Amino acid sequence: MIVKKFGGTSVGSAARMRAVAEIVASSADHRSVVVTSAMSGVTDQLTRLLELALDNQRESMEGVLDALRERHRGVAVELVPEDRGFVERLEERLRDLRVLLRGARLTGRITPRSADAVLGFGELLAQELLVAALIGRGRQAVLVDSREAVATDERFGAARPLLAETEMRCRAQVVPWVEKGVIPVLGGYLGSTLDGIPTTLGRGGSDLSASILALVLDAHRVEIWTDVDGVMTADPRVVRNARVIDQIGFRQAAVLSAHGAKVLHPASIAPAIRGGIPVRICNAMAPDHRGTQITAQADETSSPRIESIAHRKGLALLVLEHGGAMDPSEQATRVLGILAERGIDPISLSFGPLETRLLIDLPEARLSSTLEALEGTGELRVRGRLGMVAVVGHRVLSDSALLSLLREGLERTPILQIDDGNAGDSLGFLVEEENVEELARSLHRRLLEKDA
Ligand code: ADP
Ligand code: ASP
Ligand code: MG
Repeated sequence: MIVKKFGGTSVGSAARMRAVAEIVASSADHRSVVVTSAMSGVTDQLTRLLELALDNQRESMEGVLDALRERHRGVAVELVPEDRGFVERLEERLRDLRVLLRGARLTGRITPRSADAVLGFGELLAQELLVAALIGRGRQAVLVDSREAVATDERFGAARPLLAETEMRCRAQVVPWVEKGVIPVLGGYLGSTLDGIPTTLGRGGSDLSASILALVLDAHRVEIWTDVDGVMTADPRVVRNARVIDQIGFRQAAVLSAHGAKVLHPASIAPAIRGGIPVRICNAMAPDHRGTQITAQADETSSPRIESIAHRKGLALLVLEHGGAMDPSEQATRVLGILAERGIDPISLSFGPLETRLLIDLPEARLSSTLEALEGTGELRVRGRLGMVAVVGHRVLSDSALLSLLREGLERTPILQIDDGNAGDSLGFLVEEENVEELARSLHRRLLEKDA
């Protein structure tokens, strides 16, 4: 059995949905489970709706709701012109969405729990359309509600699947369909708590849905169908000369995504490792391309190698001055606790004789409210609007080109901190946000375009 996950661009229009149905229908392995994201841009629109509701901007909300209705209705009319049922269900879902948003608009507040109920609508709508596309292509397909198949903890907005319960649910909800030769279609990104309250797995979380489903269903492969030819030597949107990597290890793929390579969700690799399930990244726009194979075998290399350059923005560096007044570890524990309550995980933490440095994922928009929450935790300096460019590979510090680059001073970009990843898997350079792209391009040129 293969779990096939399709990202937002891959299901972004009626034509794309048809192309997806073709990919699934022509697969050599007929036992497929399909996971779909929301159509491209829809989760962003739902996020925008939440912001508008909190601001009580009724007219703008109507505009976004109309756009959502027209987009999905347009696709439905193209895919199943004779089926009025879809349009009726769409209206019903939009009414539910309005009720949820109304609460936020009138009270000016929204809990993470109600936000998750809103954010999942895109996947709910897309999965119905994809079922229609598959049936239109002559395959038997059925919609399975992920909120009944994937059990998660209660970390709304970034929920983590609960394996044993998900396995039990899937045995009841998914396996019988597969055994009958019917293709179950599930919305990615969604789950529900043990009490049945809807959750989401965090942005980009459909990849995680796919690998968790593969693990509990004992699939022999996960395919992540997206809008690029595979895992590349850098983000092709930033580095024009980026190339596809044919094979990469689980470990490198996990490090790469943790450093911001959006092609995979960082948490999606662990279930694949646990189940020993190979992952393949494929291009839904070019299905004949080989793509990238992610396997355990590719990790077992002893030769030093640089695989890829990853980058991310929206980071902040917190420097906690010891000042003799507070025990450094007690101070760090208090700060980490406050950050965790706000769903902010540290990227790195280092204790020095005079200060503790904490690098966190914190876009500028959340900087001042986070600083307010940290008041009273001692002397603290913060530097926001930072980014990291990371060289990812195997024993990267043994690479002579990287060593000479380090000696030369990295193309004169001011480096604020260097993060040495575990076991030489990566070397990350913390820089001002505005220097991120240029540094990614120049590191790629010097380290991965050696013949250029
Ligand atoms: P999907 O909607 O299919 O999940 P995403 O937008 O989440 O797609 O991820 C695919 C995008 O990841 C690509 O369009 C590309 O810009 C970006 N990306 C970042 N780093 C890499 C990389 N190393 N290799 C391939 N794509 C990358
Ligand atoms: N639709 C969600 C998002 O845009 C989940 C996903 O696409 O993986 O983040
Ligand atoms: Mg994605």
